Amino acid sequence: MEANISLKNFTQLENFGHSLRAPSYRFRPTCVEEIRDVFRLATESGLTVTARGAGKSYNDASLNGGGITLDLSAMNQILEWDPASGMVRCEPGVTLEQLWQCVEPNGWWPPVVSGTMKTTLGGCLAANIHGKNNFKMGTIGEHVVEFTALLPTDAEVTCTPKENADLFHGMISGLGMLGVFTSITLQMKRIESGLLEIHAWPVHDLHEHLSFLLQHAPDHDYIVGWLDTTNGGKSLGRGQIHAANYLHGREDPDPQTTMQLKNQILPPRIFGIFPKSLLYLFMRPFVNNLGWRSVNTAKYVASLRPHIFRQSHAAFHFLLDYVPNWERSAGRGGLIQYQSFLPRETAEDAWREMLTISLKRGLPSYLGVTKRHRPDRFLITHAVDGFSLALDFKVTDGNRSALSNMLKEFDRIVLDAGGRFYFAKNSETSAEAARAFLGEETISKFKELKKRCDPNHLLESDLFRRVFG
Ligand SMILES: Cc1cc2nc3c(=O)[nH]c(=O)nc-3n(C[C@H](O)[C@H](O)[C@H](O)COP(=O)(O)OP(=O)(O)OC[C@H]3O[C@@H](n4cnc5c(N)ncnc54)[C@H](O)[C@@H]3O)c2cc1C
Repeated sequence: MEANISLKNFTQLENFGHSLRAPSYRFRPTCVEEIRDVFRLATESGLTVTARGAGKSYNDASLNGGGITLDLSAMNQILEWDPASGMVRCEPGVTLEQLWQCVEPNGWWPPVVSGTMKTTLGGCLAANIHGKNNFKMGTIGEHVVEFTALLPTDAEVTCTPKENADLFHGMISGLGMLGVFTSITLQMKRIESGLLEIHAWPVHDLHEHLSFLLQHAPDHDYIVGWLDTTNGGKSLGRGQIHAANYLHGREDPDPQTTMQLKNQILPPRIFGIFPKSLLYLFMRPFVNNLGWRSVNTAKYVASLRPHIFRQSHAAFHFLLDYVPNWERSAGRGGLIQYQSFLPRETAEDAWREMLTISLKRGLPSYLGVTKRHRPDRFLITHAVDGFSLALDFKVTDGNRSALSNMLKEFDRIVLDAGGRFYFAKNSETSAEAARAFLGEETISKFKELKKRCDPNHLLESDLFRRVFG
């Protein structure tokens, strides 16, 4: 049967940080049959297809230069929600924002969320995202009860941890390269309050920073570190740790009120007057080496007093959404993120070396975030028993090639230290680096699945060609 759609809508798409661009034919299906139509059209036209959720990956994971982009954001219905069991079934384009706003007033919260609520569930499963509770709750895939997917072979499959288990563990983490999620069933986490109790402590160097994460994670539900990436020497790795706990029983005297959406939603204006949507423009003059060093120093000084406070779930998890379009403050060249995952034994030396190199070269990261992790059983896993450090870099015409060379050096340091990379973030990871950290066994298992689900390589992204091409 011929596809009842045609090639049009040739659009320039970008990664989240606006540092990469790829023109492609964009389709926005509203049901499974329309995804099928796009697969047929792609086959007839000899084009490849890449699924795209909200396009919030920092790299080329949802870009497909010259091919077709299957934008799933219109498949965004919450199909079933059971407030008694906490089980929810959604279309793949449902965002974390829609999800938490649906379940939170009934006393539930998504068990794993990213640092932005704008991501879609399809994108979150494809990358197998982690949150600030990775050490305790694992990745989002560990909370998936079932998903359905359409494969390029035209088969519709249902996968659970037991049924089609190899495909379940391959498609979750598989970066949309095996099939397209069409529905996702997740188990939510019970909460007894709309607030979290946050503990904040300063840390004075890298050794203290990582020791703190390691020592304090078991006593908390969430833990995350801010690392001042612009100061070296004895202060290298200094920063602030935030750990958060759920409130139980009567710790929140009025949970009915704190769980109301109006007490969670981030306000659109600062001081009730200034629209936050314009704030990124005022940040621009500070997004340079000198400006950001001053910002970091001021932030560190302000963090020197340990303190405890309460915050809504949304405010704690989605701090980055507080300033809409903040990534645009990096200017025309955009920004990229480099996130490395290192075993606890080797993390300190490796990150000391990387941060020292970046400072010496005058290419400091402007934002560093640390987390504590545990390994998982998904095929393309990025997690380790250790820590991650996410570094944001501003890209300019002048620094692009020096930055790229430095990140390749970082790759070597990470690999030598037994570390891993994250395919939703890093833009540099080469095929060799991927092979080195994933190992031959994983690569051949992935290739077997690819052959079974997508024998004609219909599903390819710029990331796929870079890493597995
Ligand atoms: C500010 C910010 C903070 C972040 N914080 C975190 C964090 O704390 N933890 C973390 O793990 N990640 C984090 N991320 C990364 C983000 O969670 C992932 O990149 C996620 O995959 C983005 O979801 P998306 O819907 O935008 O997907 P896209 O970026 O559009 O796509 C991501 C991948 O999913 C595939 N895909 C999308 N939909 C489907 C589908 N229906 N079926 C099959 N494949 C599909 C795409 O082909 C692509 O490979 C953050 C990103 C940003 C911008």
